[in-house]
Amino acid sequence: MQIAIDGPAGAGKSSVAKEVACRMNLKCLDTGAMYRAITYKALKENIDINDGKKLSELVRKCNMEIDYHKERGTLIILDGEDVTEKIRSPEVNHHVSLVAKIPELRKELVLLQKKVAEKSGGIVMEGRDIGTNVLTGADFKFFLYADIKERAKRRWLEMKAKENNVLLDEILEEIAMRDRIDQEREESPLRIAPGAHVIDTTPYSLAEVVELVLEYIRNGQKTKN
Ligand code: C5P
Repeated sequence: MQIAIDGPAGAGKSSVAKEVACRMNLKCLDTGAMYRAITYKALKENIDINDGKKLSELVRKCNMEIDYHKERGTLIILDGEDVTEKIRSPEVNHHVSLVAKIPELRKELVLLQKKVAEKSGGIVMEGRDIGTNVLTGADFKFFLYADIKERAKRRWLEMKAKENNVLLDEILEEIAMRDRIDQEREESPLRIAPGAHVIDTTPYSLAEVVELVLEYIRNGQKTKN
């Protein structure tokens, strides 16, 4: 069983993917965490984030261990360092979409994502290009989105809870910038996969979105690939 969930930042993908995976006893992979981990490493090592060759070299030479924890979600251990929390910093938020638009780097990470799916025995994978590029044959494809103000508010509440002192307006601006870069890049831009179930999560709680997704699955409304 493969379930692909795509959509912009703050649409609820990670929380929904985690909960659906838990209920269906599947593995779960937040692919954004992989792009974030490479961004974190590149910033730490002062690597030029526009240099595709250097970035893909970085992916090849570093050891990225990906694990899954039922409550914490996707865990990333990079060269022995648990970066799971560190990759959520405002600095990584600010640079990650610029790193993620580099084609050479995407190729390397997509290979890793496909390997994780092969070994998983069943997975819910979420990101920007899962239904369109990574798991093109997924049984179920979903595209979650929400009004940008609502998405910014969700991210702001999350960051406030972790005592990150950020302004709502700044988050809105950063999300709008990431949306634009993710949609306009040449290599596998953020798009709705053909046949995906599209859900506007603006008026719903997390539990309600999970229910909607599970309903499509229970009803066997598979995506025709
Ligand atoms: O999902 P999250 O907001 O953590 O993703 C961070 C960034 O990683 C996105 O803004 C996007 O630029 C990139 N990304 C991507 N393709 C994916 C997942 C994430 O380009 N499959």
